[in-house]
Amino acid sequence: MKTSIIGFPRIGFHRELKFETEKYFKGQISQTQLLQTARTLRLDHLKLQAQSGLNYIPSNDFSLYDGMLDTAIALGAVPSRYRNLHLDPVATCFAMARGYQGTNGDVKALAMKKWFNTNYHYMVPELDDDTVLQLNASKILTEFQEAKQSGIITKPVVTGPFTFLKLAEYTGRKTAEDFCDSISLAYRDLIHALSDAGAEWIQFDEPFLVHDLESSDFALFHKLYQPLLSEKVSAGILLQTYFGDLRDCYPDLLQMNFDGIGIDFTEGVQSLSLIRKYGFSKDKTLFAGVINGKNIWRNDYRGTLTLLAELKQYAPDIVLNTSCSLLHVPYTTAGENGIAPEKLCHLAFACEKLTELADLKHLTETARPEDDCLYTSNRKLFAHRHECRNENVQSAVAALRPSDFIREPAFAQREKIQKEALHLPLFPTTTIGSFPQTADVRKNRADYRHGRTDRAAYDTFNREKIKECIALQEKIGLDVLVHGEYERNDMVEYFGENLDGFLFTENAWVQSYGTRCVKPPIIWGDVSRKAPITVDTAVYAQSLSKKPVKGMLTGPVTILNWSFPREDITRKESILQIALAIRAEVLDLEVHGIRIIQIDEAALREKLPLRKSDWHSEYLAFAIPAFRLVHSGVKPETQIHTHMCYSEFGDIIREIDDMDADVITFEASRSNLSILSDLKAASFRTEVGPGVYDIHSPRIPSCEEITSALKKMLEYVPAEKLWVNPDCGLKTRAEKETVPSLTNLVAAARFLRSSLS
Ligand code: GLN
Ligand code: ZN
Repeated sequence: MKTSIIGFPRIGFHRELKFETEKYFKGQISQTQLLQTARTLRLDHLKLQAQSGLNYIPSNDFSLYDGMLDTAIALGAVPSRYRNLHLDPVATCFAMARGYQGTNGDVKALAMKKWFNTNYHYMVPELDDDTVLQLNASKILTEFQEAKQSGIITKPVVTGPFTFLKLAEYTGRKTAEDFCDSISLAYRDLIHALSDAGAEWIQFDEPFLVHDLESSDFALFHKLYQPLLSEKVSAGILLQTYFGDLRDCYPDLLQMNFDGIGIDFTEGVQSLSLIRKYGFSKDKTLFAGVINGKNIWRNDYRGTLTLLAELKQYAPDIVLNTSCSLLHVPYTTAGENGIAPEKLCHLAFACEKLTELADLKHLTETARPEDDCLYTSNRKLFAHRHECRNENVQSAVAALRPSDFIREPAFAQREKIQKEALHLPLFPTTTIGSFPQTADVRKNRADYRHGRTDRAAYDTFNREKIKECIALQEKIGLDVLVHGEYERNDMVEYFGENLDGFLFTENAWVQSYGTRCVKPPIIWGDVSRKAPITVDTAVYAQSLSKKPVKGMLTGPVTILNWSFPREDITRKESILQIALAIRAEVLDLEVHGIRIIQIDEAALREKLPLRKSDWHSEYLAFAIPAFRLVHSGVKPETQIHTHMCYSEFGDIIREIDDMDADVITFEASRSNLSILSDLKAASFRTEVGPGVYDIHSPRIPSCEEITSALKKMLEYVPAEKLWVNPDCGLKTRAEKETVPSLTNLVAAARFLRSSLS
């Protein structure tokens, strides 16, 4: 069996690409220097893959910013506002990615969106009525030739026309249909160009196929590919899918003239049963995605070999593949000196996954793999993982009863009790939690982390900041205060570090967008709370004011979604463990006199399964109850808030209400308040704080602007349910914008109160 990967991380072992690109942005290095770094990285990565014995090495998986953006450029989908800047190609690419403000003009960037169910973001191509799609294959060909010159015939990878058209934004009257013929011609030219250059395989990524598709979608897919598949070229055409299974469209795809189909056997829960039911095709190569490209655990060779043996009965020609691009995992475990070897050996980042592919290839060619040392040492990893079990946690989860997920008394009754207990005015004002993380705040944390300050000095500094923050909020006149979150670098990392069961990496960066990378913690074992986490801080902050200060926690769904999850237990089990740990913190805060507790679920919306038909069974059915478990134990007068970053939850509005929080705050300012009519239509009962201004911009909203936003909200939300707040935490903002913005916010709420009474 041959081996292949779908794509390799581009950022580099030391995040070289990030740092060099940022230097280029600041004008510290020339474009030539940046392109030289990029080329060196590409060649190093090629060499690394070749040395590992990989057979099908991808090219064009590299990008200076984003692969979808590169595809748009390769198809000539460069909106005129960028062309009119008359910049060189690289500068044009960055103008599309980040916007441009300079001597040649002032234009906004393309929109950015989450790439399917990952934390990677792509640039959304824009197609207007004047767009003429036409191939410009220079990047794809250059990277192919460059590899060829170093002795490697790569498998060029390109986003396929279907996924491209489905993800593009249409700013004029034309639709995907209208671009069908021209895009097909562009891809036809591409396969000829690559085939002539010597490519043996060309990979078209079509992850959009793993959604629930309409019949019109599949008609579009046919229309796009039929002409391509009838071209006579020597290169094989590989239809690569990932992030799920193919369900309804699978039988149809088998009938099409692809030379290979790439199928995901890790996230594609039904992939195997589809093959059992419909078989595979004798004249196609199956690129079997058996190594998880999204998670960081070692592959279980026994399970994989069993799967491959079964697949062999249906597909005579199999290539061992990853389930998706390795873009979504860090570079190598070799950078992790802080993790004990007995733990590190359970992890496989991108480089280690290359080794796993080579191991598996070897094992499939061995007569008795069970006797091979590669096999036996792998078995040991899976034989016993006692070290990650915590019996107390296991029995606490096992002992959960349905009543643990229900808060008493019911919402309406609590709402009344809380109004009396908290004495808040109409339109209570508050913030989402964090206050500006100024340079001194970050320095204090960094000094403590690197041992340059001791714990006492670190705490003293933070307390001083909390004191200032409370005083500032009182001066501004906010009704419900926060402590400012100065001790938190990241809302998930902070809790991970303070809970048992997490593992932290030093260098395990994953690209999130452009030059931004994230370092998700790893859920290693059963999660539990070692000791109270936020109680001291909350109690101190509350001692400084008569007004309620919110306790501030991150919810279980967000903690899980922004970490690398375990694979030896279900997501549901993991979420319940985290929920129990956070529940203990909630109860502790309450005992210590905290009257309002906010449990952030910033990432709840984003991990909805790609297929709507899976939303309930695979996610909401356990995510929503887990949130309820966190707060179901509090007294009726304790008010539970939650916060979500996106307001695009019109389609799960009942489930959000079912979280049974008392108040929810969310982003609304950028989405034209469209969520409001959904709330009204659903008779949303939770009190709501739709953000009245956008914290992602340094702009200061005027009192009039906020007042008119609130008036608009009042058309949909009953006055006694409306809260007034910004749309997210203020940590990325400076004080100079924060103070006037919040002052205007309070003035707007006061104005509205007086005009209503
Ligand atoms: N409480 C957090 C903050 O204010 C929420 C952050 C978020 O929603 N991403 O920073
Ligand atoms: Zn937010």
